[in-house]
Amino acid sequence: MKRIAIIGGGITGLTCAYQLAQAGHQVDIYEKGDTVGGLAGSYRSGDFIFDYGPHEFCTDNPELVDLLEQILGDDLLVREKNAAQYFNNKYVNYPLAPIDIIRQLNPLLTLRVTAEVILQRLKSLVYSYSDHSFEKWVANRFGKTLYNTYFGPYTEKVWGIDPDKLDPRTASSRISFNSIFDYLIKTSSYFLFKQNDFSTIHSPLKDKFYYTRRGIGTLTDKLAQKCQDAGVRFYTGYGLTHLTQVNNIVKELHFDNGDIVTNFDYMVNTIPITALLSAMGHPTDNLPIRFRSMILAFIEIPKPQMSPFSWIYVPNKDICFQRSTEFSHFEADMTPEGHTGVCLEISCFPEDDIWQSTDESIEQRVRQDMAKVGLLDSSLPCKMHIVRKQFIYPIQVIGHLEMIHELLAPVRVLKNGVTTGRQGLYKYCNMNECMEMAIEVANQIDASVETFKYELDSKWRGAGLEEARVLTDPLDDVKTTEKVC
Ligand SMILES: Cc1cc2nc3c(=O)[nH]c(=O)nc-3n(C[C@H](O)[C@H](O)[C@H](O)COP(=O)(O)OP(=O)(O)OC[C@H]3O[C@@H](n4cnc5c(N)ncnc54)[C@H](O)[C@@H]3O)c2cc1C
Repeated sequence: MKRIAIIGGGITGLTCAYQLAQAGHQVDIYEKGDTVGGLAGSYRSGDFIFDYGPHEFCTDNPELVDLLEQILGDDLLVREKNAAQYFNNKYVNYPLAPIDIIRQLNPLLTLRVTAEVILQRLKSLVYSYSDHSFEKWVANRFGKTLYNTYFGPYTEKVWGIDPDKLDPRTASSRISFNSIFDYLIKTSSYFLFKQNDFSTIHSPLKDKFYYTRRGIGTLTDKLAQKCQDAGVRFYTGYGLTHLTQVNNIVKELHFDNGDIVTNFDYMVNTIPITALLSAMGHPTDNLPIRFRSMILAFIEIPKPQMSPFSWIYVPNKDICFQRSTEFSHFEADMTPEGHTGVCLEISCFPEDDIWQSTDESIEQRVRQDMAKVGLLDSSLPCKMHIVRKQFIYPIQVIGHLEMIHELLAPVRVLKNGVTTGRQGLYKYCNMNECMEMAIEVANQIDASVETFKYELDSKWRGAGLEEARVLTDPLDDVKTTEKVC
């Protein structure tokens, strides 16, 4: 039996704890907040339940589905995706059908897009693309006009940086078609035969997804209960501040409540890599990586439906939110009879005016913007809750995988310490991959390793890959290798 200290009680920490406890080990979870669940928790207000952003569970891994069934039983649901995009002042289905693009763009613009795509295609016969950024990856395949009207604005809103500074692998792992021709084939097969080939590395199984009754928090609550039943001990109000090590062995964990913990053989970190490095005594002020933050507006609406869509993407710069989710469409007992609950996501940085504003002025801005895009009449009395979350999107600057690989050097040498999960590895990954990584780490501890393997067996190509090299000039070296088909 080994004693394991897990830092952070999100889905990564909980999954790792559950696996280890089931294998007979003694596990303690140290969580900074007063509850566990992390980003995959739910916010409750009376009979309303909201996720911190919508949390569809997408996986085609049968072992993970078995685990979900084991944890959730009857609370595991399968739901259909029903999304829209606000495009040229109208709501159009997402994925966007070619006919919608033609209808929404004026004929001159359509001609320009078509000419650009054909020109790009011809150029590709004699010229090798330089896909050195998100912008270049997209513009090389779809032309500058489609980039400027469709792909660029939403991307900039979400990530908060110029898409020419974003890694092209963000595009190749998120955009489910590789060229306009690929898009035409996939949308035709979707609309004619209902065959969905829009899965990506980031999100497999696109039109159906797993969900949980009473919100995604049911998954982490039930997982926490399973952990407790298996003997895991929870310590909430424990924020890691400092750790000591001797000869690459972690010896002491210091917490912000003054407690020092020494009774462990292994430490598993799931808190942001920047916080871990700082706890290890490494300066983190001028790191090239950064997390994007988010304000979530939860709205209790006194009518059965706001719109026919579960998700709406809003790329417009003058509207403060980029996505809205309406939970009553999930049919998961999250809203009282005759009401609906909506979450709006507002990506920002803590230094931005909107983050610094009072909750009341954010509410006012949200009401104005919802009225502008025709989602909600501003005179309808609705209760709103504003929640700020600091560590949301690990910003995928050009060469970020290689940067993380380099930053992980002092962690990789630890014989009894490992970092994993979305925050711990600075990976833009979903719950399914967090769980896969957690299981992999638990297996390594169970096998008593002294050198942790970071090339985890997940489809996501993440930090720590052997092939991730230290780049002197990321612009020259970071290129996507896939063919434009
Ligand atoms: C808006 C949004 C929408 C999303 N939608 C989806 C989706 O549809 N499908 C999907 O699969 N995934 C989705 N995700 C991603 C998913 O939420 C994450 O991948 C997953 O929850 C990350 O889990 P984690 O345990 O790695 O990190 P976290 O959930 O962040 O857990 C880390 C924990 O560490 C704690 N902590 C932090 N600092 C300290 C410290 N110093 N000491 C101790 N504890 C500390 C935190 O309080 C937290 O509980 C979404 C995420 C967001 C933000």
